[in-house]
Amino acid sequence: MNKALFLDRDGIINERIIGGYVTKPAEFKLIPESLSLFAWAKEHGYLTVIVTNQQGIGKGLMTEQDLADVHTYMCSLLAEHGFAPDAIEYCPDPDGTNSTRRKPAPGMLLDAAQQLNINLSSSWMIGDSITDAQAGKEAGTTTILIGTYSNIPEADYICPDIKECMKILG
Ligand SMILES: [Mg+2]
Repeated sequence: MNKALFLDRDGIINERIIGGYVTKPAEFKLIPESLSLFAWAKEHGYLTVIVTNQQGIGKGLMTEQDLADVHTYMCSLLAEHGFAPDAIEYCPDPDGTNSTRRKPAPGMLLDAAQQLNINLSSSWMIGDSITDAQAGKEAGTTTILIGTYSNIPEADYICPDIKECMKILG
């Protein structure tokens, strides 16, 4: 079976737009430190799976094609450094719709695990929202929550930034 590094997108791979959505490539700002996560995965034999809530689609603020354009651009940036995510799982469902895939639900991780034969208990979920840790824990991964948090039971590790996160991954 495979093992995977599950990565949240907004706030981990690219800068978050507070109160808004990345609706086009020009709004996608890569966080350079995120490249070290892809490098680690490559070096240690982990698949990389991006799991991202994109309720801007469900709210009608952007289209599936807008998101596809953003992800094509993201992949081109990663490819410049020799990286390519093995899968990109996104969920367009708006908050409050009892979605089985929208984080904190684990559906995106479970679906990717089935498709890519991933052993979740030997995988990691890294994100910057409590819901990332919740989804990762529910799926059975080890979770790292990046940010200024404390006492989050679903987070196995909490650290301030990607640099510290790399020390945890080892
Ligand atoms: Mg995030």
